Order: sequence, then structure tokens, then C-alpha cells
Amino acid sequence: MGKELRNDLLSKYDIDDYKTDKLNLFVKKINFDKKVKVYVIKSREFNAFATPGKYIFIYTGLLDKLHSYEQLASLLAHEYTHIDKNHGLRSVGRSFGYEIFTTVFLSNDLKKELFDNSNMLINLEYSRAFEKEADLNTLNLLQKEKIASNGMLSLLKLMRKVAPERILNSELSDHPNTIERIEYIEDAIEEMNYNAVPNIELETIFNAIKQGV
Ligand SMILES: [Zn+2]
Repeated sequence: MGKELRNDLLSKYDIDDYKTDKLNLFVKKINFDKKVKVYVIKSREFNAFATPGKYIFIYTGLLDKLHSYEQLASLLAHEYTHIDKNHGLRSVGRSFGYEIFTTVFLSNDLKKELFDNSNMLINLEYSRAFEKEADLNTLNLLQKEKIASNGMLSLLKLMRKVAPERILNSELSDHPNTIERIEYIEDAIEEMNYNAVPNIELETIFNAIKQGV
């Protein structure tokens, strides 16, 4: 099922091959499951999502706005957690894909496609719990790699800046609202205790992604 959906998405969207290659290098360096594969979709949308089959899709509209490798690692760790914990399959049953990183684009064709058959309203609370779990587990993954946890915080703050608040607070949002997310992440960071170590390899790849071809 995962491969079929992946192929369908790849045929519909314009993939940035250069950024896709670099991003997969980046993912390999952070020791997630080796089967995780990432694709960069050329689109102005500020969004990312994961699908069954261990695929993560990121739009250039989001990727290009990131300004640190810590933010990128946080975004990937959030999506990876959905894959690792099987959130999608449990939350949307037999329907295709799952999960959109931001709450912003409810009108998005893809989201409609992904959620059409999944009775989104019933799954809302369930799905919010998964989002929180993904956010908090992101901090664990960052800690394991000694990547600064502030990356997650600044990623959420970036979301808050980019996304219009009225949409963020939508009743239909399948993510906890961004303010709430910032609060629980701040609390969790306060309770963590580790020294982040600058990761030159990740930074170099991140810079290459930013510079483009
Ligand atoms: Zn999520």
C-alpha cells in the first residue's frame, strides 16, 4: 500500500531531485530507520507529511524557510515518529496516507485526498494525541543525536509566524494549536538536561540544500 501511494504521489508532483538527494543524505546521518526515504516536492506550500511505507514528503515552501539544521532534524524527527509508531495506520484505518505537519492547508488537494475516506472528525482527538507524542518524541531523538532541542522550538515558532492564526486555531485542525505545542515543548525542554554538540556534517548538508544547485 505504501509503495502504491508513493508512486501515485511521485507521478502527480514535481520532485526536486537535487534537494531530495541531499535530504536523504541528511536523514542517513541521523540514524533513523534505514528504510526511511524522503522526497522534496516543488511547491510553495508550507507543509510536510509521512505515509505508510516509511516515506516522508517535504514541500520546498517549508524546506526553503528553515534556517538551521536543527530545525530540519526536528521536522524529520516529528514525521519519523509517526512512521515509527504506526500512527497513520492506526488513526486512519485503511485509508491511504496520513498526517500533515502543519494545520494550515485544509484546502490542500492532497490532504483532501488523504482524509476523504477516513472520517476525519471522529479521528481528531486521537490524531491530536499522536501529534503531541510525535512532538515530544522529537526531543528524545534530538537528544540521542545531541542536536540542540531549540530546533524544535524554533520550528514551531516559524510555523506560528508563517501560518495565519485564524487557520491555526481551526476546529478542524488535526494538530494541537501551535501555541499549545510551543508551551509543552518549552516545558519538556526545561526538564531535559544534555549538552548539544554542533554537528558539522549535518550543517554542511543543510547548507548545500539551502544553496540549491
Ligand atoms: Zn504530525
